[in-house]
Amino acid sequence: MRSLARCSPTSTDVDEETAMSDHRKLGRELGLFDTDPLIGAGLPYWLPDGATVRHTLEEYIRAAERRAGYRHVYSPVLGKRELYELSGHWEHYSDDMFPPMDLGAEQVVLRPSLCPHHAAIYRSRGHSYRELPLRMAELGGMYRSELSGVLGGLTRVRAIQLNDAHVFCTLDQVADEASAALEMIRRAYEALGITPARYRLSLPGPGGKYVAAPEMWRRSTALLTDVLDRSGLPYEAVEGEAAFYGPKIDVQVADGAGRESTLSTVQVDFHQPERFDLHYIGPDGARHRPVMVHRSIIGSVERAVAHLIERHGGAFPGWLAPTQLVVLPVSEAELGRAEELVRRCEELGLRAELAGPDRGTLGARIRAARLVPYQAVLGPREAADGRVALRLRDGRRLDPRPVDEALARIDALVKSHSPDLWNAA
Ligand SMILES: [Zn+2]
Repeated sequence: MRSLARCSPTSTDVDEETAMSDHRKLGRELGLFDTDPLIGAGLPYWLPDGATVRHTLEEYIRAAERRAGYRHVYSPVLGKRELYELSGHWEHYSDDMFPPMDLGAEQVVLRPSLCPHHAAIYRSRGHSYRELPLRMAELGGMYRSELSGVLGGLTRVRAIQLNDAHVFCTLDQVADEASAALEMIRRAYEALGITPARYRLSLPGPGGKYVAAPEMWRRSTALLTDVLDRSGLPYEAVEGEAAFYGPKIDVQVADGAGRESTLSTVQVDFHQPERFDLHYIGPDGARHRPVMVHRSIIGSVERAVAHLIERHGGAFPGWLAPTQLVVLPVSEAELGRAEELVRRCEELGLRAELAGPDRGTLGARIRAARLVPYQAVLGPREAADGRVALRLRDGRRLDPRPVDEALARIDALVKSHSPDLWNAA
């Protein structure tokens, strides 16, 4: 039932305790995030290193969306109760929503998804078929009234930052938009070093609070089945995992213990365009109903980062690491050169840190920086001739090379979001 209403991550497994404790433990050790009982359960805060990872991930997604023709919007995290009555959330999903707040004669609620706001934004202007597909994206907050018993870490939270988008398009455009979303997901997973556990065609099942419209379900299921068949990806159809308004393609990932959860999703929705009376003017001059494709590349930022922490044991891909390069002067004599190297990194936009002899022996400093992708050792010889000896996190040790060349190579790998720390170029 948890997966019913959102174009957002879902969990198929209630027992997430072990997985949570893993990323919780690492998250605390690495200073990424934490919680405070006074702030409340399920309401983690992000420490500077965690915030850096999150910000970098969000910027990657926004840039990928801009390149794919999405335009970003901002919309408020609250809405009037009537908005969710119209969208169907109130009828089908209120168990997972926070109780409404009385505000004068009105009631407002924390939103359980971004779709109704985006439908309202679409509706606020007239649209021609020439504008379609109209791709609207937002990394926005949404809220879920999880019971306190299942809260912890970043996998079950009450405040969620969702990577969301809605494509308003014609029926003929749905398959291409859904395929393009799958391709964006594939590329993001490659950059992030994530391997999907499986692709799932999530269908309605007995007992769920689904919208009753058999013809609509038949058409949208046929569309998504066709998209999956043409993609060549192996997938399984699973009943009982659909959104209340339509079927979805879910990209499942597994934690170390094999427990699955949903990160990414692509959904076809005929229901909300109907409810919001959305339309566009076709080439025939008449009003037509668009279809809504809901899609999320990484799902909730919280769950994505939790998965990345566990998947990489805190050793994030170079472009995502909170500290990308640590500068290690062998002795006090190389401190000046080391500070200069840190400044050069900062000018390039690389996140560098100086770990000088005051922090212990070279060996101890290298061990302390074991999760940092690049370790730049500066001995007397390197300092004298403007070179640097790089050690990579995976154990590779590169011959000393000119600082300019080393930084240019790292910068190129980071800017291209490469999952590799070095290449033969
Ligand atoms: Zn949506």
